[in-house]
Amino acid sequence: MEVRTLGQFVEQEGILSDLRKLVGDIIAKSGVGARRLGKEQRLPVVQCTSCDAPKACCKSIVVARLYEGIVVAAHLRDEGRDTPALRDELRTIADAMEATSPFDWRRPCVFLDANERCTVYASRPTPCGLLYVYTPPAACSDPSAPVKAYVAHAENAVAEELEDQFRDRLSLRKKVGRRYIGVLPRMVLVALEAWDRTDFRDYLRGLDWPSDADAARWARR
Ligand code: SF4
Ligand code: SF4
Repeated sequence: MEVRTLGQFVEQEGILSDLRKLVGDIIAKSGVGARRLGKEQRLPVVQCTSCDAPKACCKSIVVARLYEGIVVAAHLRDEGRDTPALRDELRTIADAMEATSPFDWRRPCVFLDANERCTVYASRPTPCGLLYVYTPPAACSDPSAPVKAYVAHAENAVAEELEDQFRDRLSLRKKVGRRYIGVLPRMVLVALEAWDRTDFRDYLRGLDWPSDADAARWARR
């Protein structure tokens, strides 16, 4: 039997292209939902692309699914950005993020550039893509200002369902009580490190994945 690496497997089986489309669809659906709610409540909806304020949302802990890390990893590889320096940075930030309360974390995302723009925007994970607010962008950086955000329950539920579908397609055995999720830099690093491995299933399964309770402690924003 042909032995394939993670990268070969997700590309040749169409898993990567499906994930890109499905994540994009979930994000697009939240945009429709956010605009519909804005229309109903007569509130102007703010999208990332029209936000000209410092990105408070990109300086907080983002919890992503492994499959979302794979989509970002593929983006980085396509752009020739998978370097030892990037992996070191991802590791350092992931270690620090995991050791910090989400209430205290205020550091820019690895993928935020000097102009406050996301450098993996087309491949950003759903926790980033589902975010829409109805209040002025500056309020996101002001702890004393109220922020009204779109709550994307339905879209998030679809993203969560994809976890099991992705695991099945990868033939990655379920870990009882554990989920293949983590802070974004960790998920991207894990995906990059697994990319060229033929033993990627054992490698991934052997990592210390969080329980639901662990994951709940990383509430975003
Ligand atoms: S991935 Fe992009 S949108 Fe998400 S937190 Fe990082 S810079 Fe912001
Ligand atoms: S959540 Fe706030 S800071 Fe982030 S892009 Fe939207 S308006 Fe800007």
